[in-house]
Amino acid sequence: MGEFDFISRHFRPLAGEGAFELRNDGAVLSLPSDYELVISSDTMVENRHFLPIDPPETVGQKLLRCNLSDIAAMGAEPVGYTLNISVPLDHRYDEKWFAAFSSGLAKDQKAYGLSLLGGDTTGIEGPLVLSVTIFGRVLKGQALRRDQALPGDGVWVTGQLGAAALGLYARLGKLEDPSGKLMQAYLLPQPCLGLPLYGVVTTAMDISDGVMQDAGHIAEESGVKIILYASRLPFDTPVREVASEWEAVKLMGGDDYQLLMTCPPENEQRLQQICRGKGVKVSRIGDVRAGKFVEMLADDGQKLSFKTLGWQHF
Ligand SMILES: [Mg+2]
Repeated sequence: MGEFDFISRHFRPLAGEGAFELRNDGAVLSLPSDYELVISSDTMVENRHFLPIDPPETVGQKLLRCNLSDIAAMGAEPVGYTLNISVPLDHRYDEKWFAAFSSGLAKDQKAYGLSLLGGDTTGIEGPLVLSVTIFGRVLKGQALRRDQALPGDGVWVTGQLGAAALGLYARLGKLEDPSGKLMQAYLLPQPCLGLPLYGVVTTAMDISDGVMQDAGHIAEESGVKIILYASRLPFDTPVREVASEWEAVKLMGGDDYQLLMTCPPENEQRLQQICRGKGVKVSRIGDVRAGKFVEMLADDGQKLSFKTLGWQHF
């Protein structure tokens, strides 16, 4: 199949306003004058971030949702995205696969209110590589950041943790998952968009590499120490009940795509109100102190130590 046929069949129907049906060299994006553009990018590589056996429809949705989660972390709303695909030359991924992949994108474009603006496709002697650059908008000066946490703030997280990391092992047949909830969390993250957090939280980021590693980024950028309490991490039933050999994955695994935030005590009620209003669970899981680095404490106050802090990219 030719590149142009491939694009017109699978991706032209996803093109939105300013994309000129993908018939030009670029797209044109306009924003209201009181907004700023937020840009973020996330790549998924076969066998590193998704499996060839995963449903193509959910691979498309996950690709978009991981990017949407970064937009949520910046306190922005999504506008559009570009998509770059490197397709293995050995035809392991066929027309049927890409049709389903693009139907997943179409479904989530509609659900989250954004559209395709452009992209590129190439052949590759290697794994399928899927890369999205996402564009969002935020009122001028109101983007959330990682460098404003202060000693005395609480550390908060939305939703539930651990299920997606365990879900990968369920997907690989290494862990029982009778309810299917673990696998579902791995296949379809739920990005936490639309919470008006500016002026309420001091920092925000999304959890992609594990709560401890990601809390470490806030600690480093803000120049503070973060203490997390293992017993306060929000775990749903199947995660809570998993055997103790899975403890490290449960506590340190990534792929949650929940928001991690720091919030001063005087804004805690407001934060809880905002989340309740959107039907989002929010839990206080730690404290910001003076110092550096991140620690996770067990119930007895002992420091927990793990071989790695979370997902390693390299
Ligand atoms: Mg992120």
